[in-house]
Amino acid sequence: MAFRGILQSALAMESNRSVGCGAVLVAKKKSCDGEVVQNPNRSCWCDNSRLISFSAHYLACTNCGTLVSQAGLGPDQIPVRDDSSDFYGREYWFSYQREHLGLPNIAQRARLDLPERCLYWLRTLLTYKLPPARTLELGSSHGAFVGLLRNAGFEATGLELSPWVVDFARQTFDIPMLHGPIEEQHLPEQSFDVIVLNDVLEHLSDPKHHAIPNLKTTLS
Ligand SMILES: [Zn+2]
Repeated sequence: MAFRGILQSALAMESNRSVGCGAVLVAKKKSCDGEVVQNPNRSCWCDNSRLISFSAHYLACTNCGTLVSQAGLGPDQIPVRDDSSDFYGREYWFSYQREHLGLPNIAQRARLDLPERCLYWLRTLLTYKLPPARTLELGSSHGAFVGLLRNAGFEATGLELSPWVVDFARQTFDIPMLHGPIEEQHLPEQSFDVIVLNDVLEHLSDPKHHAIPNLKTTLS
């Protein structure tokens, strides 16, 4: 009966764009103004090259609203082989998040995000798909959203780049986790009914060619 209460809470939750809305909605709110940048380093995954200024490292797509990294890591720098030195290794979730983004560490976020952005994301997902369904969250971090989805009746799985984060999520929320980029998973076709990317697409340098083709074949 626990998941019925979660579903009711999520469905009743007021829409709040300041909570957990991610970069896409933030970009959409800003997309009405701003100069189109000439010759951007990268186009959007949707093929649109008309991008406007957003921040020092990101432009925003005038078509779909996604942020587009202009100086982000290349495809070879995304995977985590060494948790102590690779960018998205353990320290990304501790020192980098605190020093560069002013955010609590991953252990604190596991608690803070659960009743906040995770509930908002659940409410959004339910407008597309009700349980039972198979879901995969790319960039699931501490795994709170995957745990919430499982409690709501979904067959949910998470994916993270860092072996340390994968273990942390498994131990914290007792959830199934995949390790490594989606391109390295070799999942059977139609493995999932829903694939979630919250604050992920804008971190990838070329998602159209490296992530999205795999996601398409993995979806049912
Ligand atoms: Zn776009």
